[in-house]
Amino acid sequence: MSIDQAVNVGLPVTIGRAPGSGPGAPAPAPLPSGARLLKGERNWWFLGPGGVARLHDRHVTPEGALLPDAERRLHESGMFTTGRISAYALTVLTSTHCNLGCGYCFQNTAQDQAGGSRPPRIGRSRLTSDTITEILGFTERQMAAGGLEKLRVLLFGGEPLLNPRGCLELLERAADIAPTSAWMISNATLLTPSLARRLAGLGLTSVQVTFDGDRSDHDRIRVGRADGGATFDRIVGNIAGACGATELQWTLRVNVSQETFHGVDALIDRLAGALDPARCTLYFARIGDVGVGYANSLLHTGELPAAFSRWQRRALDLGFTVSRPGARKTCVTCGHTDGRYGAVVSADGTLASCWETAGKPDWEVGTVADGYLPGERTRDRWIACQDLYRYDEDARTLARFRDRVDTALLDYLHETGRL
Ligand code: SF4
Repeated sequence: MSIDQAVNVGLPVTIGRAPGSGPGAPAPAPLPSGARLLKGERNWWFLGPGGVARLHDRHVTPEGALLPDAERRLHESGMFTTGRISAYALTVLTSTHCNLGCGYCFQNTAQDQAGGSRPPRIGRSRLTSDTITEILGFTERQMAAGGLEKLRVLLFGGEPLLNPRGCLELLERAADIAPTSAWMISNATLLTPSLARRLAGLGLTSVQVTFDGDRSDHDRIRVGRADGGATFDRIVGNIAGACGATELQWTLRVNVSQETFHGVDALIDRLAGALDPARCTLYFARIGDVGVGYANSLLHTGELPAAFSRWQRRALDLGFTVSRPGARKTCVTCGHTDGRYGAVVSADGTLASCWETAGKPDWEVGTVADGYLPGERTRDRWIACQDLYRYDEDARTLARFRDRVDTALLDYLHETGRL
């Protein structure tokens, strides 16, 4: 038997047909460690925590399950093995306020009843020096308890750059307790070349920025909170300016909704013309609703899977990175109820289990001063990524969508020698 580990080597494989693996076949039992098995155009794809492998039909049962010998070989080659976590993942909201007024923001508490750009939000707070002291004391204790040596900080908000001093001070002082690197999720409207340079000098390696479709859609949706003003050109200009001043890498998230869907093809080309694709990863995400009343009528069926695949291919062809699909992962922060590998801290020092509940009253799971509350008090508040999102479709439809898009991407990466 040969198993072609796509992560390591590119051995040619002979393809056959999977007998009897039609849509009516019973679903096979889930694989351990979040591993997935997908039926590609010409072969099967195994996605495990240890990497991606290309399999023959003879490694898989007619129902689409791994045969025991193939599973044993994958175990032996470490494909089911999850890597050791060595860095503590610390997310800090340096400001809970934001200068934009996106209607779908999960930190809104409702829609703007006047139809404008000021949806009500979570309460305002701002990271101070005293709270940084408490956060870093808490982080040191958590890292010692978990035996972790490194620190990976996420500068988060609201808009983190509404408090640039808090961002800089946090990174500067974090380096005193552990080797620190950082990334940031920012709307990039306030990012200047000099601020980017200072943050990069303190360990910032990458920034995630969102686009709400092509320029005209984006400028209708992702608008200034105070004046409803357009932001597309400013964001692109700021990213280009920061690129010139630093080595920062960029993750450009493209929000997909019924309002942005038709402009995404043009957006990809526009971004490729304005930015250096070699420094950018592009990803597409259908926007959901965490209960703030944002309506997205786009379903995960119909033309959506094919559109996602078309966008990913175009992005790759233009030189962007599109991340390789992988196994289902447990989030290092919210996936462990004792906060062993990371924490989400709001600007006032309260702890949440997940980004989506940070800064929301009634969702606190402790404070950095006193640590986590006892498990029996946090059980109902310990939610994980995506738990709060509401969809009109069931989990199987969402999983089928993801499998279809990921399979097409793996096929294309392989076809074009990128795997
Ligand atoms: S920029 Fe981000 S934090 Fe600000 S309103 Fe939009 S989604 Fe929310």
